[in-house]
Amino acid sequence: MGLTRYQAKRRFERTPEPSGGGGVEATVSNGGLVYVIQKHRAKRLHWDLRLQEGNILKSWAVPKEPPADAGVRRLAVEVEDHPLDYALFEGTIPAGEYGAGEVEIWDRGTYRVIETTPAKRWIEISGTRLRGAYVLLKLKPGEKDDRNWLFFKTKPFETQG
Ligand code: MN
Repeated sequence: MGLTRYQAKRRFERTPEPSGGGGVEATVSNGGLVYVIQKHRAKRLHWDLRLQEGNILKSWAVPKEPPADAGVRRLAVEVEDHPLDYALFEGTIPAGEYGAGEVEIWDRGTYRVIETTPAKRWIEISGTRLRGAYVLLKLKPGEKDDRNWLFFKTKPFETQG
């Protein structure tokens, strides 16, 4: 997808959000991939889940607080890819701009992939609030334009060996 949609939605002379020129500042050194959830007090409060894939952050908007425990499934609506350095962003998007409102980092850390398919991300998250195995599951895997996923914690899994 790249950053075309991200950049088209924003006026970088007005919003403090990163334009995507930098990119690698958020890269972590422990071998994991960047994981972050930003609490976003926009017109509707939501939590933005972001996972590094290559040099972008795949992003989902979660309308209710992401679950720390198994047993709760949250809707997660896929949104445009974000630049990697967005993982560090906190601040206020000014009134009148796309996503106007306060953004704060709600959780951050790293994740690793257990299994990925076009309709599924099975990952292990190492954050502060969220830790353990999580799944993102596309609700209608056959429909390319459907952006609705489920996000939930799975029961603890056995590590190999
Ligand atoms: Mn948002």
